Amino acid sequence: MPIYEYICKECNLILEIITGYNSPPLTCPKCRKEMQKKPSTFSMGKNRMEERVKNVLELTKSYLKDGKVEDAKKLLHKAKEYIKNDTINRVYDKLSQKTEG
Ligand SMILES: [Zn+2]
Repeated sequence: MPIYEYICKECNLILEIITGYNSPPLTCPKCRKEMQKKPSTFSMGKNRMEERVKNVLELTKSYLKDGKVEDAKKLLHKAKEYIKNDTINRVYDKLSQKTEG
């Protein structure tokens, strides 16, 4: 599956999501604008990686603020596939426990 970079022209939020070709457009969680999709490269430096983690966690937070727990879980689940990061794993586990009890 290709990784796509979504960019919000309003607030410059960047998200990277693994999607199929017919996936629905992504809406920016901050300004509700449709985000632009563009194919991204697979090479990533450490700084880019940290930036990705930060973006994912930020989006997760704003989903949770809106009560969209399932959306937050879906996002983290996808993120786990391409970002090997302890924080994302922890947040996902925490969220799963919360919603399964
Ligand atoms: Zn935005």
